Amino acid sequence: MSTPQAIRGTQDIFGAEAEAFAHVVETFERVRKLYRFRRIEMPVFEKTEVFSRSIGETTDVVSKEMYSFEDRGGESLTLRPEFTAGIARAYLTNGWQQHAPLKVATHGPLFRYERPQKGRYRQFHQLDAEIIGAPEPQADVELLVLADQLLKELGIADGVTLMLNTLGDGASREAWRLALIDYFRAVQGQLSEDSQERLERNPLRILDSKDPRDKAFVADAPKIDDFLSGEAQDFFGAVTSGLDAAGVTWTRAPSLVRGLDYYRHTAFEFVTDRLGAQGTVLGGGRYDGLVESLGGPPTPAVGWAAGIERLAMLVGEVPTQQDVEIALVPRGDLAEALALEVFYILRRAGVGAELAYRGSPKNRFEKAKKAMIPRLLDVGSSDGEIGVLLIRDINVAETSPEPVRKRIKDALSQHFVITDPNPEFPRSIHLVRRK
Ligand code: ATP
Ligand code: MG
Repeated sequence: MSTPQAIRGTQDIFGAEAEAFAHVVETFERVRKLYRFRRIEMPVFEKTEVFSRSIGETTDVVSKEMYSFEDRGGESLTLRPEFTAGIARAYLTNGWQQHAPLKVATHGPLFRYERPQKGRYRQFHQLDAEIIGAPEPQADVELLVLADQLLKELGIADGVTLMLNTLGDGASREAWRLALIDYFRAVQGQLSEDSQERLERNPLRILDSKDPRDKAFVADAPKIDDFLSGEAQDFFGAVTSGLDAAGVTWTRAPSLVRGLDYYRHTAFEFVTDRLGAQGTVLGGGRYDGLVESLGGPPTPAVGWAAGIERLAMLVGEVPTQQDVEIALVPRGDLAEALALEVFYILRRAGVGAELAYRGSPKNRFEKAKKAMIPRLLDVGSSDGEIGVLLIRDINVAETSPEPVRKRIKDALSQHFVITDPNPEFPRSIHLVRRK
């Protein structure tokens, strides 16, 4: 029988990559707490309309990337291609308005039917942070500073640039949209098929196209700055001066739009040239219209998402923390049972301990040495009632065993009577079973 293969575009993550992945998530968890974002857990699937109504029918995500299916009840469901729409849905269905402004964070898998390549998968993972119910530009600033601090704490901020734009308010955006239609209509025949189709309905999409035929015309396309209302200008000015005050460097990107339709005002990406074509590590913006598109009241909101795999690639190798302090090596059959008992006592007491499942003492010693475990605990026993534990340094240059010895003794003293060591072996610990 042949072995079933993994689904194209999914990954089984192990080794250094898995460590880097975990490091990204742990760092995010630490930093989001610092900024007081509350943790939420979201379903992996939603009714299809949650995404189609909010992300926009003409976006790539909705028109060709969603994993949608009918369940056994005949309902159209979709594996989430992003977090924001589901969070907005949850905000409405759970009455989270009472917590507004609500700062939330989550992370987990997302699904998009894309062409798999390095940094682009069909199941990928994101970190996500959102502030819902906050109209102030300070909310945009807080999210951007959070993103900036995350990248710095991951040690990958060098060579990653914050590209910042404003899409204006509804009126500015509409005026810009009409100007873009005029501009692109003049060159319609030279655009990609997708963009020809997008032209009337959603010309902003053309600015985000990766097709070289479209890119040729993007640079000279009308810029939002010529259409911004005074209010929209003030809003963007407050965001940029907030960033300057916080010491976050940014670059203006006047053609930047995002792959989803719901953005208003602030739109941004953190990009790098260190990941080839998949250079966007984090993206987001303000989505004041999204909650309304799901039937809710007008609700200002802003957020971002970052690809964990792309961040992990930038992080590269993380030094794996050496949590195991001591390897137990039983000498002889009687010592085997005692070693097992000591092993679990130590672990429960928070002493990182390792006990290989099998092998001769010499064999286990070699394994511990290779695994860079700093110390060895030779476990000897005369009759199973009395034990002698001898601490030996194997991978430590400097000999300071007293703290370790004390922690081991403290843990074991709950279970054994510890007698004075033989003066010839001051680093040994002698045990007698409590009566
Ligand atoms: P891209 O332009 O690379 O397609 P996007 O604009 O579709 O990205 P968003 O929807 O804004 O991306 O998602 C935010 C982040 O999630 C991206 O910046 C990227 O780091 C990551 N991401 C998006 N799609 C994928 C994917 N298919 N595989 C891996 N990571 C992804
Ligand atoms: Mg995409």
